[in-house]
Amino acid sequence: MTASEADDETAPASDFIRDRIRADIESGRFDGRVQTRFPPEPNGYLHIGHAKSICLNFGLAAEFDGQCRLRLDDTNPETEKTDFVVGMQEDLAWLGFEPAKPPVFASDYFEQLYDWALDLIRAELAYVDDQDAETISANRGGFTEPGVDSPWRDRSVEENLDLFRRMRSGEFADGDKVLRARIDMAHENMQMRDPVMYRIRHVTHHRTADTWCIYPTYDWAHGQSDAIEGVTHSICTLEFDSHRPLYDWFLEHLDLPGDRPEQIEFARLSLTHTVLSKRKLAQLVADGVVDGWDDPRMPTLRGMRRRGYPARAIRALCGHIGVAKMNGVHEIELLESFVRTELNATAPRRMAVLRPLKVVIENYPEGGDEQREAINNPEDESAGTRLVPFGRELFIEQDDFMLEPEPKYYRLAPGREVRLRYGYFITCTGVVTDEAGEVIELRCSYDPATGGGQAPDGRKVKATLHWVAAASAVDATVALYDRLFTDPHPGRDGTDPLEALNPESRELLTGAKLEPALADTEPGTVVQFERLGYFALDRDTPQLFHRTVGLRDEWARIQKRAQ
Ligand code: ATP
Ligand code: MG
Repeated sequence: MTASEADDETAPASDFIRDRIRADIESGRFDGRVQTRFPPEPNGYLHIGHAKSICLNFGLAAEFDGQCRLRLDDTNPETEKTDFVVGMQEDLAWLGFEPAKPPVFASDYFEQLYDWALDLIRAELAYVDDQDAETISANRGGFTEPGVDSPWRDRSVEENLDLFRRMRSGEFADGDKVLRARIDMAHENMQMRDPVMYRIRHVTHHRTADTWCIYPTYDWAHGQSDAIEGVTHSICTLEFDSHRPLYDWFLEHLDLPGDRPEQIEFARLSLTHTVLSKRKLAQLVADGVVDGWDDPRMPTLRGMRRRGYPARAIRALCGHIGVAKMNGVHEIELLESFVRTELNATAPRRMAVLRPLKVVIENYPEGGDEQREAINNPEDESAGTRLVPFGRELFIEQDDFMLEPEPKYYRLAPGREVRLRYGYFITCTGVVTDEAGEVIELRCSYDPATGGGQAPDGRKVKATLHWVAAASAVDATVALYDRLFTDPHPGRDGTDPLEALNPESRELLTGAKLEPALADTEPGTVVQFERLGYFALDRDTPQLFHRTVGLRDEWARIQKRAQ
């Protein structure tokens, strides 16, 4: 791989995987080589859970001067598509990882896997079973109860070879037969009870088209693919822990040169209020709950990209979390805090009013067109300043005014004076209401002596408001987002996570007003709307801004509460 621009943030110096790799290098195992892989199934787009695996696998390769390849694990033709293959490569590149070599596919190895299956049959280590899937499952037994041998378990080698070849040639219907490894139906590990290696699927495959109608299972394809590629450390998530003996068993019973790859498990990434399963995410798309895989509410990399999350923030999160051996759930606020930290340093500040309330400054000259100087990013002096037009008619936020202010409400109210950021002090002198009594316009006066941000006589105001001049305002639509799932742990206790969907996860504000500088924003750019948060300009729809994240550091609040 080419090193990402930020390897420093992706990896803590030491953890159980790195310790193991160091030990292997020292002992000369694998001739000191380190080769990993990232093996997604192309049945959806990548999500933030995958990002953790990517940062780990590519990060290890970079650290130990090895290599990491992208392998598309395409053994289930029903749900896999070339679009996903292409999309996964785009997402990987966006995250900052460009594999040095082109991607590989489990389907590249179908012929080799088939030949090896024949070898296992010849060694009486695999057999064709005529039982249907239900019977096979029922006869597998339980944790305390051994499985039941299939009546077809002792078929002769010749009969098995003949049947398996005929399975391949398309003689049988889906589900008529499977090929199983012949291990031990009483094995204490259920995975070892004659696991299925091939099933019949008369389905067109996105790469091999109709060449095959038998497809290998994950267990049969995965370790063998690792071996073919020369993978040394095959890193997967904890739920594959019980598959490891099977992973090793297959490799031990094949005639392979050199050291066999080793499977190592680590804890998967989980976040509160988030579902990370491609199948469930696909359902959200299919049901129209979200606009697509790149909907800004999706935990997919393309959703986060569209929402304005910097790839660097995602890598920083993965590095921060590190690798663990115990599954745990991280707060979504932690991710948002990395996003905020990154954007605070990089995002230009602008002014925008989301729910406008008109203000007329009665003592300001008609037709005056004054330009006020505003700082682009207080965190980055090199970002410089810009000019923001001021005028007699302005917009402020509706909630920056209260007709009858509550205690501790310090913003604008009748008779009260506040500061306009980069503008002047204004005092509310009158209120215009509609027939229903709703405030539709404010009348104000301004103090021309306060253009420096302070009053010469030293009088203080308790609030500073953002604003946009009406004459030059640019119209925009702003999408505000809330959690996609109200429950912090959607799907906990075996419920369907989609039951925990938040019906109000998006609010579209169609009447937002922006300062004119925002009209020149490059699509995809994230800016800070002063006092409101960070907002990303959509890549496709002009003048549509997505709220990336708010300004308040919720993560700090959570940590404080936990102390
Ligand atoms: P999904 O349920 O989203 O489809 P999966 O594990 O079936 O997840 P794959 O496409 O098969 O998805 O996974 C590709 C790689 O990414 C695997 O090595 C897998 O272990 C890893 N991975 C998937 N989800 C996570 C996660 N939440 N945290 C860490 N790694 C993950
Ligand atoms: Mg999967």
